[in-house]
Amino acid sequence: MAKKILLGCIADDFTGATDLANNLVRAGMRVVQTIGVPAEALDTDADAVVVALKSRTVPPAEAIAQSLNALDWLQKQGAQQIYFKYCSTFDSTAQGNIGPVTEALMAALGTSFTIATPAFPDNKRTVFKGYLFVGDVLLNESGMQNHPLTPMTDANLVRVLQAQTSAQVGLIDHAAVAQGEAAVRARIAALQAEGVGIAIVDAVSNADLLRLGPALKGMPLVTAGSGVAIALPANFGIAPSVQAAELPAASGLQAIVSGSCSVATNQQVLDFIQSGRPAFALDPLRISAGVDVAGEALAWADQHIATGPVLVYSTAEPAAVRAIQGELGVEQAGAMVEQTIAAIARGLVERGVRQLIVAGGETSGACVQALGIAQMRIGGQIDPGVPWCFAASDVAPEGLHLTLKSGNFGTADFFSKAFAQLTP
Ligand code: ADP
Repeated sequence: MAKKILLGCIADDFTGATDLANNLVRAGMRVVQTIGVPAEALDTDADAVVVALKSRTVPPAEAIAQSLNALDWLQKQGAQQIYFKYCSTFDSTAQGNIGPVTEALMAALGTSFTIATPAFPDNKRTVFKGYLFVGDVLLNESGMQNHPLTPMTDANLVRVLQAQTSAQVGLIDHAAVAQGEAAVRARIAALQAEGVGIAIVDAVSNADLLRLGPALKGMPLVTAGSGVAIALPANFGIAPSVQAAELPAASGLQAIVSGSCSVATNQQVLDFIQSGRPAFALDPLRISAGVDVAGEALAWADQHIATGPVLVYSTAEPAAVRAIQGELGVEQAGAMVEQTIAAIARGLVERGVRQLIVAGGETSGACVQALGIAQMRIGGQIDPGVPWCFAASDVAPEGLHLTLKSGNFGTADFFSKAFAQLTP
């Protein structure tokens, strides 16, 4: 039986879960990420488990049900503190789900106070006087005001959160945070006396988060982006160590599948091709015409894979993507390409690939599902927000190394850098 975990985390989306896990590993915790709520008890030792949900934009009642289910499982694994993780741009709809889920977790944990802060200075997300900045501008000027699912039109997080919850929302401002633990604890006591249930916390630097950390010791529930994670392991007596990121030795063949069309991924694909490595481009129109494009890609891979990494990609420039979307419809094109890439990923692992890079958030979700992966051990960081992971799959029961790169992460040489990191 596995030892009890210390920190139990509930993340409202998949790549956000990995981002949090990555920060906890960097701060010294050994971390497992699960895809959804596991049916069984944890069968491996870990200091923290991050349960990845898909609850950011579902109806609030559904998000609450998923989150309470995750809470129940994490408590059964011994979690002493619960961390509800959301996006560092506080992505939410008018109904939630940050407020409703926070309230439900507080009730289930029997606690009347928690904090909320998406501050993540490493990624230029800072909070001052309760206002969220993305880089140099306010949240509502950052482009997030035009997000298709969660438009953020107000940067004042006290107001944003207050609209989503019946709990009273207050602010622990920078003046308190800058003075450290005692001042934060005093501010919390004062807010609680006023009836405040959830306090937005200012933080403009990692030093602020590290000053805040000790004041969160023993708080049953913490809600935050991934930034606060850098300060929590120390509360459990854990310091950064290389052991936290240790994965089994890498073996097997290497491959990359890419369904991301972001600027960064376009550069990474180009960089790989220009280095003279073998690459196979998927044509969405042939997929929609019913051609077995996955079969073609795998037959091509058979010719090249023994001698080094291969790349299979649908990655394209914006104009090409728009043309395909115009022809097939946005969702239809997306789903079709995702399913094809997922089938290719599975075929590659069946052929002996044990070091797999997947580029694209949605693409990663489809691949993990096709590979029958239920949980991943989190290893060392390749680039900010992107660690190597190790996971068992039904087509690789002994496990494979994989990394799930969400669109805009990673330097241009990410693919070669990632494989080099696995080579001793
Ligand atoms: P990112 O992390 O960059 O947003 P995602 O995988 O989340 O990447 O999203 C990319 C979406 O674009 C997926 O649904 C994918 O199937 C779709 N897609 C990939 N290539 C193409 C293409 N050539 N034309 C149209 N859609 C594409």
